[in-house]
Amino acid sequence: MFCVRCGSSDSELYDGLCRDCFLEDYTILSIPSGIEVYVCSHCHAKLISGQWVDEGLPEEEIVYRALEENISWEPPVENPEIELEIIQQRGTIYQCLVEVDAEVLGRMVSQEYGVEVRLTNTVCPACSKQASGYYEAVIQLRADGRELDKSEIEKADLTVKRTLLKLSRRDKLAYLPQRIEVNEGIDYYIGSHKSARKVVSALREELGGIARESPRLMGQDRSSGKGLYRTWISLRLPDFRRGDFLLHRDRMLTVLDLRKRGVSVKDLETRDVKNILWGEYENIDLVARAADVKTTTVTARSPGRIQVLHPETYEPVDLEADSYTSKLEIGEQVPVIEIKKRLYIIDEAEE
Ligand SMILES: [Zn+2]
Ligand SMILES: [Zn+2]
Repeated sequence: MFCVRCGSSDSELYDGLCRDCFLEDYTILSIPSGIEVYVCSHCHAKLISGQWVDEGLPEEEIVYRALEENISWEPPVENPEIELEIIQQRGTIYQCLVEVDAEVLGRMVSQEYGVEVRLTNTVCPACSKQASGYYEAVIQLRADGRELDKSEIEKADLTVKRTLLKLSRRDKLAYLPQRIEVNEGIDYYIGSHKSARKVVSALREELGGIARESPRLMGQDRSSGKGLYRTWISLRLPDFRRGDFLLHRDRMLTVLDLRKRGVSVKDLETRDVKNILWGEYENIDLVARAADVKTTTVTARSPGRIQVLHPETYEPVDLEADSYTSKLEIGEQVPVIEIKKRLYIIDEAEE
């Protein structure tokens, strides 16, 4: 066999050429001499084959990635080692050098390629939505039959802010373009449906309450033809607060905590702690407020009975003792609540 170019017959042939002739034309890799990358000037997301990918990388790193992604190796290369270098930068145009060492047909070959990477600054769809105040959901925080109190509003504001901050790493539309105080409560405008649902979930974990979603068709997306929805999510906090007193299925209870999973309560007689699901809300009656608790004195004790003074009339009142009250001493000051003409001694841990 002879090399078709030089006629030498000494060795194996590659594509009809001897090794020397093959290596004359051989390039270890191919890379375009110019690469254009669209980058969002706000969030540094870049456009890769029609999709905005959020890598949040600094510009130089985007240049190096663009070089790497555009390299394709030519066989029969082995063990290539590359070095990427930005030689010069003018504005958003980067002159780069790709240096490569590799083994080809048993020889070490070194090559260099000059590449111009151009970063074209633009604004990605998510950032342009944010800039225009776009939103997909409104969370309407309300309280049932009362105004929201200051501590609830503070807690809610903080929870909304924190949750969006956490979500914004993955969801560009996790932002709050508007927060409006209305007579009935607070409206939080949220960029995306997805993040709004997560914010509501976090709010319920902090404050409890009942959420209801109502989507409304706002129009049609011109490019996709899909319906454009905006969701109103009402989050209704209960009329009662921590420390208040409830009647639920014939039990007198005090509220220990309000969470997403329900209302944590303690039975005023059995002292049992339990959870009432939000689905039971309509069956719960608020019977007294935490502020109605008074203090009085234990005046007598006998097996199974305990006597205290009524906090207003100072008349002695005989009560059946339970595991908690049977340990109280005569003369001790105890918190009591009067509900439907009956006194209940509250254990200190409930306050
Ligand atoms: Zn040859
Ligand atoms: Zn962006």
